[in-house]
Amino acid sequence: SSPYVDDPEPGRVRVAVRLRPRNAEDLSEADYPDCVEVQPELKKLKLRKHNWSAEYYRFDEVFAASASQKRIYEVVAKPVVESVLEGYNGTVMAYGQTGTGKTYTLGRLGKDDVSERGIMVRALEDIIANTSHSSDSVEISYLQLYMESIQDLLAPENTNIPIIEDAKSGEILVPGASVVKIQNLDQFLQLLQIGESNRHAANTKLNTESSRSHAILMVYVRRFIHEEEVSDISSGKRDKKAGAPGLNVPTIRKSKLLIVDLAGSERLDKSGSEGHMVEEAKFINLSLTSLGKCINALAENSPHIPTRDSKLTRLLRDSFGGSARTSLIITIGPSSQHHAETSSTVMFGQRAM
Ligand code: ADP
Ligand code: MG
Repeated sequence: SSPYVDDPEPGRVRVAVRLRPRNAEDLSEADYPDCVEVQPELKKLKLRKHNWSAEYYRFDEVFAASASQKRIYEVVAKPVVESVLEGYNGTVMAYGQTGTGKTYTLGRLGKDDVSERGIMVRALEDIIANTSHSSDSVEISYLQLYMESIQDLLAPENTNIPIIEDAKSGEILVPGASVVKIQNLDQFLQLLQIGESNRHAANTKLNTESSRSHAILMVYVRRFIHEEEVSDISSGKRDKKAGAPGLNVPTIRKSKLLIVDLAGSERLDKSGSEGHMVEEAKFINLSLTSLGKCINALAENSPHIPTRDSKLTRLLRDSFGGSARTSLIITIGPSSQHHAETSSTVMFGQRAM
């Protein structure tokens, strides 16, 4: 059963930090030595400042550059996936500067090397394996959110998709987005690849970069469950239901998993940039700032989570906080070249703690 059952802080967003290995994009280590040191056993991160004084930050999990995709999935995403299979909504997000590994962590297909598969593929693999009953189903939508406008990545001619909230159930709906039934993992891999190339094409057309938009994979799960296996959702409690012995009331549970590859968190240089880019920067700042406020409100157990300020948080509304489970992966690079961005990324993650 879900590791969240005895959770003392049910609504809080869990934050993991993942350090990317040094790569060819990083300038020379002699000029820009590492400013980050990880202490995975202590779940701590040491960040060196320009004057070489150091600051320590604690997170729910801290991963070294050597951490495998499998381990990241198992520690960060699998608890959310298990909770989704039990009928709760959940979200896994990646936040960080462009080039630090958000898409690698979430969206890597691993076509040549399955060990490189990211969270989206591994999550679907687990979900498909656990939805084998004749009345079970798995469906996906794949969306891009750019400048407060939602586009369907599986049918890119579909733009300006609205977000509505079902007045009765509080469920967040995106009518008009295509919903595709998933039969097997190969089919999902194909869809993900189509989505990625549509994302690329759409951004080329708009003369922008995919790092400026959020990509959102929505996975709708319908699962047949024996009532005695599960906790009672309607009462809001997560304890096992004390059913009459021998009585096995089967029910269908509906839940949703969101996997969100957020826009690059870097502050865009507004000086000298064109009007279009200034607008872009404003929208990215709006959605990420609004996300930060919601994460903060959840950490403080606030009764009011300000989800209405941006489309990103409106879309997440029924999938974080409350009985939903949320993991946030903060991705950072090692080089002191990006010390300021790394520091602001780390501070964003600290808002949930
Ligand atoms: P982002 O989506 O945050 O802009 P990417 O996921 O595209 O960043 O990663 C940037 C580059 O670094 C890519 O070439 C990617 O393959 C590589 N990379 C990122 N994280 C890792 C990792 N943990 N191990 C190996 N390569 C990585
Ligand atoms: Mg990316």
